[in-house]
Amino acid sequence: MKLIDSHAHLDNEQFNEDREEVLNRIKENLDFAVNIGYDLASSKKSVEFAKNYDFIYAVVGVHPDDIGEYSDEVERELEKLAQEDKVLAIGEIGLDYHWMTFPKEQQQEVFRKQMKLAQRVGKPVAIHSREAMEDTLKILKEFPDVKGIFHCYPGSVETAREVIDNYYLGIGGVLTFKNAKKLVEVVENIPLDKLIIETDCPYMAPTPHRGKRNEPVYVEYVARKIAEIKGISYEEVVEVTNRNTRKAYEME
Ligand SMILES: [Zn+2]
Repeated sequence: MKLIDSHAHLDNEQFNEDREEVLNRIKENLDFAVNIGYDLASSKKSVEFAKNYDFIYAVVGVHPDDIGEYSDEVERELEKLAQEDKVLAIGEIGLDYHWMTFPKEQQQEVFRKQMKLAQRVGKPVAIHSREAMEDTLKILKEFPDVKGIFHCYPGSVETAREVIDNYYLGIGGVLTFKNAKKLVEVVENIPLDKLIIETDCPYMAPTPHRGKRNEPVYVEYVARKIAEIKGISYEEVVEVTNRNTRKAYEME
């Protein structure tokens, strides 16, 4: 059984030189990869990838660092894209108080608008939250009927227990880093049923590729690390997390 990369950015310029080869490696080695939009242009590219390659699915939305372009018109376009075949969710959306490219209030407003969009189109969401856990939780609780994925889960075990009723936790390359104590605790304590695997490529490459460009096939390092932490077989991790990803994106 082949792994899934539940969160990738294949339209990133770091893939310009050899994108076809990267796509080929996905085709050969993975079940599929999900390409995630971060603004309107990349959301359109995601949909294009999904149309051109049967092993790519798309997610459309505007990332909190890119909300300068957000308008009613952009929202209407996203809503249209969201109806396309193979568009699984709205994302990545959320709050980023680390870069704080836009004021908190503006980030929260656009986050709420895109949560409402997800509600309207009846799709799950892919959440980005950086140094903004309290406000993220507050907004998620305003939308108890929306479900999805907490991408690159940055929180504690306690917070994970609060969100896993509605959200799967996206686990990426950070898990393989030496200083990943907090995330290791999350993987130890949260049932495998609630974890999904991602790269966030080209960012966050796992050890032994740390600091270099990440790509979808590196999900294997994350899966092996989960198996080691939980003391179970690699095959079980692949099987269960694959099923989780399909459930998280409501593919079945
Ligand atoms: Zn991402």
